[in-house]
Amino acid sequence: MLGLTVAVPGLVDPDGVVELAANLGWRQVDLRKSLLGALGDPAYPLLVENDANLAVLAEQRFGGHAGTADLVYLAGGAGIGAGIISDGRLLRGSRGFAGEFGHLPIAPSGGPLCDCGRHGCTDALAGLGALIRRALPEAAVSPAEFGPHVDEIHRLAKAGDPAVLAALATTGRHLGHGISILTNLINPEYVALGGYFTVLAPWLIPDAERELLARSVAGDAGGTRIVASALDSSAAAAGGATHVLDAIDAGALPTP
Ligand SMILES: [Zn+2]
Repeated sequence: MLGLTVAVPGLVDPDGVVELAANLGWRQVDLRKSLLGALGDPAYPLLVENDANLAVLAEQRFGGHAGTADLVYLAGGAGIGAGIISDGRLLRGSRGFAGEFGHLPIAPSGGPLCDCGRHGCTDALAGLGALIRRALPEAAVSPAEFGPHVDEIHRLAKAGDPAVLAALATTGRHLGHGISILTNLINPEYVALGGYFTVLAPWLIPDAERELLARSVAGDAGGTRIVASALDSSAAAAGGATHVLDAIDAGALPTP
């Protein structure tokens, strides 16, 4: 056993305290401490980390553009979390809360209500919930049930359903708007669409790239390209293993 890493879809501080995981209903949960207690203070390193931060580590090590020093992974799930590698380093911010892509405001004024209580966030316009409401207006949307709805949208998109294609184009445009903010700030080389976005990427990317090009100050969007992640829904778990492997690569050999 070389280490244990737990991925959480939420804000995780450097001590492994989950400050907020809205979709799990968690607030101020000292997860690392609980796990250490439950496991009897194991000798191996135990880390609690944001799921998108772990996924981008896996994307950088195993993905289609492995080794890229400026890479963003967008986790399309209940919200849109971003794992950001800039100049070769994972960008966490001062207390570990960087990468809340889903709460960038992209509506010029007002905009639909977001789960965070604010209006016009990227989540509320480009998230899976918004896409499902647009593409399948009859469907009841609950984060626990995104999978079957995404499968249905995928099936209808392949069949050329005009309403579903329009819903995907609108969602792609909002995603591209959010990505243009990332490009203007940190100019990543690749933005990989992960989670539920991966399977829908062929329909999201054309409109997202058009919006990105239109809204980026640098010509050709500073070279930033939007791609489908090469990893499946286990990206965050692969990232947990990657984190341990990276530590060993850096010389942190396990104690016998
Ligand atoms: Zn929000």
